Amino acid sequence: MIFFKKFVDLHIHTNFSDGTFSPEEVVAFALKNKLSAIAITDHDTVSGIENAIAASRNTGLEVIPGIEFSAEIENYEIHILGLFIDTNNPGFLEKLKKIRNSRLERMQKMIEKLNALGISVSIEEVLAHSGSDVSVGRLHLARVLFEKGNVSSVKEAFERFIGRTKPCYVKRMIISPKEAIAMIKEVKGIAVLAHPGSMAHDEIIPRLIEEGLQAIEAYHIEHNQGRTQHYLHLAKKYNLLISGGSDCHGIGKGFPLLGLVKVPYEVLERLKLAKIKIDK
Ligand code: AMP
Ligand code: FE
Ligand code: FE
Ligand code: ZN
Repeated sequence: MIFFKKFVDLHIHTNFSDGTFSPEEVVAFALKNKLSAIAITDHDTVSGIENAIAASRNTGLEVIPGIEFSAEIENYEIHILGLFIDTNNPGFLEKLKKIRNSRLERMQKMIEKLNALGISVSIEEVLAHSGSDVSVGRLHLARVLFEKGNVSSVKEAFERFIGRTKPCYVKRMIISPKEAIAMIKEVKGIAVLAHPGSMAHDEIIPRLIEEGLQAIEAYHIEHNQGRTQHYLHLAKKYNLLISGGSDCHGIGKGFPLLGLVKVPYEVLERLKLAKIKIDK
């Protein structure tokens, strides 16, 4: 008997944050790649989820509501995903709006810094590119700089200007990991440490667990086999659940990554069992 294994992708951005695919395009792409389930995890917004769920109706594709928060620790940042969140909580939506507004103010400041260096770019250009009412971020800015010919690649924009240690970088509204995890828990989500390999500060994990972290993203596009094995091992050691995804940004970072990280469906099943416990 031929056994068809089922796969999921639990970390995907839409054009409601810094991805380039609409929620409908994400669903179409996931179906094309024969995925069984996806999670929509935009930065600081849940606005793309409803459309993705609507587009998935009668297709057999499961869409898990999610979010990605950036949190600050000392001199580095970590990203925390919330999976299975309730997207209708008014208090939660209010907080997200505040975070997104601060992103807009921060974008203005980064643009002022770029202008001071003689680079002509305006907030209007960035918003025309991103669309209004989206969670605006550095990838939008980088793409505008690239399209205008100020840099020869998106990567160069980060390396020369807006990377964390570069001259035109401005911090987002500062949220601690504890606050990010608490926000996720308030809306009955599972808090997942995103791409721990890119943070490379494993020593922070026990503290995050005390603050309510439940899972770790062992499978990620930036994790090679060794990294994945390392985080699968850490998950076992700390009794954490596992998650995984491509972190697809459409063509935002080059080409679509959706479906390129092979995450077995069993990973989602274990997360679902944890979600049932949360809802009890
Ligand atoms: P922000 O949340 O506005 O600080 O922007 C962070 C986002 O920028 C990340 O989620 C990525 O999508 C993107 N990003 C960060 N560093 C890079 C990089 N070196 N190359 C391409 N995209 C990047
Ligand atoms: Fe992003
Ligand atoms: Fe991230
Ligand atoms: Zn992401």
